[in-house]
Amino acid sequence: MPEFRQDPVSGRWVIIASERGRRPTDFEPPPPPSPGGFCPFCPGNEPHTPPEIYSVRPAKDDKWLLRVIPNKFPVLNVEGDVGRVGEGIYDRMNGLGAHEVIIETPLHDTPLAQLELPAIEEVLKAYHARYVDLKRDFRLRYALIFKNQGEAAGATLTHSHSQLIALPVVPKRAQEELAGARRHFEYKERCIFCDILRQELAEGSRVVLENEGFVVISPYAARFPFETWILPKNHQSSYEAVTGGQFRSFARILKNLLMRLAKTLNHPPYNYMIHTTPLQEGPNDYYHWHVEVIPKLTKVAGFEWGSGFYVNPTPPEDATRFLREARVEREF
Ligand code: ZN
Ligand code: ZN
Repeated sequence: MPEFRQDPVSGRWVIIASERGRRPTDFEPPPPPSPGGFCPFCPGNEPHTPPEIYSVRPAKDDKWLLRVIPNKFPVLNVEGDVGRVGEGIYDRMNGLGAHEVIIETPLHDTPLAQLELPAIEEVLKAYHARYVDLKRDFRLRYALIFKNQGEAAGATLTHSHSQLIALPVVPKRAQEELAGARRHFEYKERCIFCDILRQELAEGSRVVLENEGFVVISPYAARFPFETWILPKNHQSSYEAVTGGQFRSFARILKNLLMRLAKTLNHPPYNYMIHTTPLQEGPNDYYHWHVEVIPKLTKVAGFEWGSGFYVNPTPPEDATRFLREARVEREF
């Protein structure tokens, strides 16, 4: 059983998942996935995955277009209770939580950026459906939806997929963002993300893309080269609030951005994460959900680990220009 342990100094929770690797040899780099090797995410191999939680299947056809399954090697376990206990000055909890995999397509070799718009839209709707469902479990406080694309970004299987990890605590990173947004709101009575959008749209040098519902910016203090954020144009605190045509606008801007990153940086590995309000909180005026997209181009080393600073060699204004000028075959 995995467990959470809290660092008593920083308050950061760590998951000790001893099922995942306990011998030094478990940390040798795995062999690259062989082309044509067995893929548990491909159609026909469903019996090799845990039973499915959600799927998209066209009417009268049992061929799936998307599947959500529990992770076969979860970092957390959905059964049991939180079991918060103290051990002297330390705090620990059971490794309770959900760990799901969203298999985005039946096509083994097609990355998310290359999928057709309706397929991308289904992926974004699947995130939403799972988010809403997990919210009903009151033991869970935060759901993080993320994607690791490419081996260097942490993907262990090439078949395009995203993941969702729901936690019994709000992670420190989310807490810091929520607290910063709350501070701004207490002082100014405005959402800081709405303020950022207003200023960036007026000024323009860090606006990569814009459509009727969403904006992509290179953040002013980007930590990483070509880091970008996707934000809904109108204030919305939670991903749960996304409805109707908003999924299509979100799919269009996400595809457009991923194609531009692929063109500009020659198909880089990347991560993206959806930042949203905690599961058990209602809508609010101070937080604004968004996606952070980070191509994996630099390594985090001693200075970054030691200081919490990031050294970004590409000014976000330059990254914006490169991404805008990328010649993609089609606009979306
Ligand atoms: Zn596959
Ligand atoms: Zn806002």
